[in-house]
Amino acid sequence: MVKLRPFPVLSPQRVVQGPSRLGGARSALLPMRPRPEPQELLSSWLFRLAQANSQKLHSLSRLIFGERQLWNRDIDSMAGDEVLAALERATGVNADVLRLHTLPSLEGRVYAHHTANSSTPWVLHLGIYHRTRRHCGLQYCPQCLGERPAYLLPWRLSISVVCPVHGCVLHAACPACGVPVVPHRVDMAAHLSKSFPTRFPHTRCHACEVALASAPTVAAPAAVVAWQAVIHAAIAGDGWVQVQGVGAVPLTEYLVVARLWLTLLTFGRRAERLRTLLGMPVLAQSEPRVRSFDVLDVRTRLAAIEHLITLFDGWPERVTAWSRAARLRRTILLQDMQAPPEWYLDALKPLEYVNPRRPLTGPLSWEELLSHAQQGGRRARLLVAYGEGRPVREVARHFGIAPRTVRDLVTRFNQGRPEGPARKTSSFE
Ligand SMILES: [Zn+2]
Ligand SMILES: [Zn+2]
Repeated sequence: MVKLRPFPVLSPQRVVQGPSRLGGARSALLPMRPRPEPQELLSSWLFRLAQANSQKLHSLSRLIFGERQLWNRDIDSMAGDEVLAALERATGVNADVLRLHTLPSLEGRVYAHHTANSSTPWVLHLGIYHRTRRHCGLQYCPQCLGERPAYLLPWRLSISVVCPVHGCVLHAACPACGVPVVPHRVDMAAHLSKSFPTRFPHTRCHACEVALASAPTVAAPAAVVAWQAVIHAAIAGDGWVQVQGVGAVPLTEYLVVARLWLTLLTFGRRAERLRTLLGMPVLAQSEPRVRSFDVLDVRTRLAAIEHLITLFDGWPERVTAWSRAARLRRTILLQDMQAPPEWYLDALKPLEYVNPRRPLTGPLSWEELLSHAQQGGRRARLLVAYGEGRPVREVARHFGIAPRTVRDLVTRFNQGRPEGPARKTSSFE
């Protein structure tokens, strides 16, 4: 528990021009300088800094950064050398230490490159609109917030779904009114002006003032809690995780593979069958406008991560088993990967021989073929049986034709000649 020290009342002038404690020379050091908590977001520390100095957040920002507009952007993403140097002058905390509390510090451990102006993989979208946020991009654990008023760096990541300390599901909105958490919009002036200042106003909903720590605690599955602890330890530590049968691998490599499978498990194209086989719930937000894991709600991400854990628990056999069952081809299993990790390619090796036949590349999508087959189309039913991986001989026997006719029909389909010039080769349709 962090104790509030008594508030000294000070004006900006007094801070800048006040006598230095370091002897004579004028100092810009703030009187109250709480240290950042481990893993605390830079923005969260700024809220506490303002409060400790009885300042409105925006007054403190003006004092430290001048007229720079910081709060209409994502300060945890954008804080560069200038901002950190100004903070070092105001607080005495080294800029390199402060950098560890920003999202760019996760470069090389969570993502290969952090891009401040566009979306970075795993960073939840904030949907910044002027001074407010349209997406729930800042998550929190109500119990953590109740114990210490700090928002943590991993809470900004879509890979974070539970609190490894308290074993509960993270929240991403106000429990009372459902708006995203936007701590810098809390009117600190209102909280400071009361005779008994509100404790930690930035841990309240900016819209309805409910304490976020009062959000209900929802117990998370034990396997997810254990997994989250491993991932967070890797993020905060040396950035390596263990993969069964492989050994220690860089977290970035693990996350490249995890991201592909989490996409397949949630909305990946051509992976509907995988989701059906695993009983994944249909996305509540039917079709996210941005097709990214980083805009999905915490419940959807949690459900996908449970399956990801199962996948890695059975590594590498389960990758091939699921891929075969859901007919996921290598192109799908490697899509959007610039440099697939060697250990992942090794796991996919058995799949190279599983389906040597030609894929169906004809004018109809798989869904359209299925629909035709359901309506009784004989040719569509044959192509579906072929596409499902049934042996050609078996398909031929089932439809009472020669294996060569099956292959001819596939050729004609792939050439976009659904009717075919030589109807005499078969009596289909
Ligand atoms: Zn917690
Ligand atoms: Zn609210």
